[in-house]
Amino acid sequence: PGGPGGGPGGGPNRPPRRRGGRRRRGTYEEPVAQDVSALKADVIRVNSGSTVKDVAEYLGVAVPEVIKKLMGLGEMATLTQTLSDDAIQVLADEFDKKIEIVTAAEDQHADPEYEDAEEDLVPRPPVITIMGHVDHGKTSLLDAIRETDVAAGEAGGITQHIGAYQVHKGDKVITFLDTPGHEAFTAMRARGAQATDIAVIVVAADDGVRPQTREAVDHAKAADVPIVVAVNKIDKEGAQPDRVRTEMTQLGLQPEEWGGDTMFVDVSAKTRQGLDDLLEGLLLTAEVEELTANPDTEASGTVIESKLDPGRGAVVTVLVQRGTLKIGDAIVAGAHWGRVRAMSDYTGKRVKTAGPAEPVEVLGFDTVPEAGEFARVVENDRRARQIANERANRLKLEAQARRHGIKTSLANIFDRGGDVKELNLVLKADVSGSLEAFEDEIAKLPQEEILVSIVRSGVGGITESDINLAAASDAIVMGFNVRPVGDAAALADREGVEIRTYSVIYRAIEELRDAMQGMLAPETVEDVVGEIEVRETFRASKIGTIAGCMVTEGKVTRGAKVRLIRDGSVIHDGEIGSLRRFNDDVREVLQGYECGIVLANYQNVQPGDTMEVYETRQVERTLS
Ligand code: GDP
Repeated sequence: PGGPGGGPGGGPNRPPRRRGGRRRRGTYEEPVAQDVSALKADVIRVNSGSTVKDVAEYLGVAVPEVIKKLMGLGEMATLTQTLSDDAIQVLADEFDKKIEIVTAAEDQHADPEYEDAEEDLVPRPPVITIMGHVDHGKTSLLDAIRETDVAAGEAGGITQHIGAYQVHKGDKVITFLDTPGHEAFTAMRARGAQATDIAVIVVAADDGVRPQTREAVDHAKAADVPIVVAVNKIDKEGAQPDRVRTEMTQLGLQPEEWGGDTMFVDVSAKTRQGLDDLLEGLLLTAEVEELTANPDTEASGTVIESKLDPGRGAVVTVLVQRGTLKIGDAIVAGAHWGRVRAMSDYTGKRVKTAGPAEPVEVLGFDTVPEAGEFARVVENDRRARQIANERANRLKLEAQARRHGIKTSLANIFDRGGDVKELNLVLKADVSGSLEAFEDEIAKLPQEEILVSIVRSGVGGITESDINLAAASDAIVMGFNVRPVGDAAALADREGVEIRTYSVIYRAIEELRDAMQGMLAPETVEDVVGEIEVRETFRASKIGTIAGCMVTEGKVTRGAKVRLIRDGSVIHDGEIGSLRRFNDDVREVLQGYECGIVLANYQNVQPGDTMEVYETRQVERTLS
C-alpha cells in the first residue's frame, strides 16, 4: 500500500451520500476522498493490516521513530511486521494524528461514489427480511406469500430458490429475502451490507415471545430498520394475539392500535388469513421510508446467496440496489470477479437486465463470493480482476495482522473518536440472574462521557450470531460462565471480535472500569512547585527586565510556568524565558538561593512581586 487515502476522488462539495439501503457499520464515518479529508480534519485513512513501514508512511514519521515508540510500549518490531488495529491506533495517538482505520470489507462498500441527482431517482420496491423464533412460521409465511404472487404463477408457476423473490400487489412490487432467520441478516450486516429495508418479526400467537424473537428484535434494532410484527398462527386454538402484543410492548415495540408506532398484523400462513393486510402494511411502511434508486447507471448491489454448481460454476444471487445489471457487464464482489454470462430471475426465467431491488441469479463469477459481499460493475474485465486481486491481498494482510500482528493492551481497543465515547457490549451468561446483576452494575457506572450500550444480552453459550452482531456493532462480547460454542471462536478471530469470559461479575465490572478509564480523556492538573520573591529589577537593552529573585519555597525550573502576583492578584501567567544564577544558565534553582529570571514576553515585573511556580501534567481520569 502506498500512502493514505484510496478513494476515487470527488469534489469537496459532494452532496452527502444518500440512504441507498446501506449503512455504515459501527462507528465508521462516511468515507471522504483523500484530498477532501486533508482539507477538512486531517484524518488519515489507514488500511487495516498495515506494516510498521506502511504506518510510518501514513503518519508521515520516520520508521525508526515508529519502532522506538513500539519499543517504549514493550514491543520489538521489524519493518515488515503487520500491526493489529489497536496497535495502529495507539501509534497514531502517540504521534498525535487523527486516523481512521479502514478494512477491505469497509472499503469495498465505501469505494463507489454515489452521486445520484434528485431527478434520476425513482421509487423502488422495498426489500424485506423475515425473522423470528424457530417454528413460529417463517418458512411457511414466506411460502404462503410467494404463492399469492399471480405474476409468478403466470410465468410458469414453478419458482426456483435463489435466496430472494418478488411479489406483485396491484402495481407495486415487494422483494423478500427468503433465507429466514437473523443469522443471514446479521452475517450480511457484519460485512457492512445493508440489504434489508424492513424487518418482519414473526411471533406465533400460541407461543408468544421466545428467545430468538428477542434476538431478532435486537438485530433489527441494531440495524436501525423499521419493524413490522406478524402475529402468526392466529387460526390455532389457544392463539392469543393480544398476549403477543403485550410481550412485544415489553421489548419496546408498542402496537399502533395501542398508541405506539409499531405495526402488528394478525396472519395465518396456513389459512392465508391476513396475508393481504401484511403486504399492504409493508407497502405502507415502505412508502413512509421513501425508498428510491437510480436505475440508469452501472449496477451495484449485495450478494445474497452463492454456491458452486458442478456444471455451471459459481452461481451467485445478487440483489441489485442501484443501477441496472446487464449481460456482459464486468463485475467485482470482494476478492471475486467475473463477466455476467447469464442471468435468471426467481421464477427461473432468463433475463437480460435487472434493476433496483431485483434479485437475480448471475453466472460468470470466477470464484464464489460470500453472502454480504458488495458487488459492483466496473469498466472492464481487466479492472474487475485488478480490484479483486488487490482486495484478496488486503484480506490476506488483515488476517495476518489479526492473528500475528503486534498488539497492545485491552484499554486501547475502544473507539477514541468523538466527544462521547461509546462502548458496545454483547452479554451472555449461564443464568439470567447474572445478566440482570451485571446490567445493574453497568447502570451504576457514570455515563456522562462514556456511553455503555448493551446491544444484546442473553442466556447460553456465545454463538456465531453473537459474534456477527458484535462485529456489526463494534461490540465486545462478555461471557459469564459461558464459552464460545461451535465456530464462534474461529469467527471471532476472523472478524477481530474480542471475547472476554469471566466467572465472577465483579471482575468484569472491575475490568470495564479500568478500560473505561483508558477511554476517558486525560485531565491536565497543576502542581505548584515553588514560590519566588522579586527583590530587585534591572533593565538590559537586549534582554528586557531581569528580576533578581529569591526562591522562598520549593524550587524553580527552567521549563516551568509562573504566575506573577502583585498585591494578591495574578497580573500575568506565562513561561520563564531564562533562568540564571550569576552569569550561567541553569536548569533549576532550589529554595534559599538567589537567581535571575526573565519572563517570556513580559517586562512589567517590579520589586515586591511574587511568583508562583507551577508545572502541568496529564493524568488519566478515574471513575469514582
Ligand atoms: P420456521 O421454523 O419459523 O420457519 O417455522 P415453519 O414455517 O417451519 O413452521 C413451523 C410449524 O408451524 C410447521 O409445522 C407449520 O406447518 C406450522 N405453521 C406455520 N404457520 C402456521 C399457521 O399459520 N397456522 C398453523 N396452524 N400452523 C402453522
